[in-house]
Amino acid sequence: MIKESVQAFPISKVRQDFPILHQEVYGKPLVYFDNAASSQKPKVVIDAISDYYNQINSNIHRGVHFLSQQATDAYEAARETIRKHLNAEKSHEIIYTKGTTDGINLVASSLGQGLIKSGDEILVSQLEHHSNIVPWQMLCERSGAVLKVIPINERGELIQAEFEKLLSAKTKLLAVNHISNAMGTINPIKEMIQKAHEYGAWVLIDGAQSVPHMAVDVQDLDADFYTFSGHKLFGPTGVGVLYGKEKLLEMMPPYQGGGEMIAEVSFEKTTYAGLPHKFEAGTPNIAGGIVLAKAIDYVNQIGLDAIGAYENELLHYGTQRLKSQFPDLRIIGEAENKASVISFLLGDIHPYDVGVILDKLGVAVRTGHHCAQPIMQHYGINGTIRASFAFYNTKSEIDQMIDALDRAHNMLA
Ligand code: PLP
Repeated sequence: MIKESVQAFPISKVRQDFPILHQEVYGKPLVYFDNAASSQKPKVVIDAISDYYNQINSNIHRGVHFLSQQATDAYEAARETIRKHLNAEKSHEIIYTKGTTDGINLVASSLGQGLIKSGDEILVSQLEHHSNIVPWQMLCERSGAVLKVIPINERGELIQAEFEKLLSAKTKLLAVNHISNAMGTINPIKEMIQKAHEYGAWVLIDGAQSVPHMAVDVQDLDADFYTFSGHKLFGPTGVGVLYGKEKLLEMMPPYQGGGEMIAEVSFEKTTYAGLPHKFEAGTPNIAGGIVLAKAIDYVNQIGLDAIGAYENELLHYGTQRLKSQFPDLRIIGEAENKASVISFLLGDIHPYDVGVILDKLGVAVRTGHHCAQPIMQHYGINGTIRASFAFYNTKSEIDQMIDALDRAHNMLA
């Protein structure tokens, strides 16, 4: 089944859409395997940025003039595209942010204004990116709430029995990622959301790594909050999305004050705008929001099911090639349900040294702790080499990485 969809995957056409991929670095064809950090942009996205500035650039929601109305319409139409993409019920449940980190901080700061109190418990997991740990730690420091951590097993999967033991009437919030950036583990979030809801807890899902690779339906998941970044979804940097259920967002106080988020201001009393503007103080990244919708249209044209199947094939091919080529290679994170991320160590060679040699041979990977130091602490290591694939990558690029690793291995082992 997967084979068929992979054979049908229009890889040559797709690669034509990404101008940046067709270049050499240090005289070698570029192989870009750092997609979990940030993905490349198709030409339609790049063009849409200049179209915005060439044709309709203007501030939104405030102007009566033509350009302001054009920009406002495009920005709000993009919000509707994002709503449909996540299958949210209402477009005012879509809050524009700067990215995943900003979305999580928005929720943590707002809930910290009296909705999470001393003695409440916030549950995160050992798999989290620092941006889904530190805002909750800061909230705990401010409020007296307690942070609890769901442990992982050796394959890098959340231990569900331990998660269930940690749930109690004190659990106010579960904050967990859909896919781990450091190892690619796909978490069973639908089941976890359901269990957390049995205890009355709210659930925030960090979707930074999932939205670029799979279809997400926030109503089917029953997520209370779901957040992601535009730049990992083949869109621009500096824009992202926080989805929140209307009744929660209504109840939450604003996070930042300023223009756009008010109904009326006087020195005696200020009243706030309704959703989504209550959480969107100041002039936003207007071009970013509009162009993010173009990126979403682009992936939907290819189809997220086809993308997922193709990336899965790359994952299996890469894993097999790495394992068979290097007997001393250790893969960190071998979850049964895994996205197209391979974290590994090559013998006792420092990941940084491998990364530097790979770079000189044209292969861009990430090395280090991937902003997930608690995972590294679990495995007793400082970091890994991480190759993360997107749908514009190919098996022959994986072969180029294997050859480059071979060179690195011969030089450094
Ligand atoms: N969460 C996960 C799982 C991530 O992979 C990342 C970025 O790598 C983030 C959060 C933070 O995203 P951003 O830096 O775009 O806010």
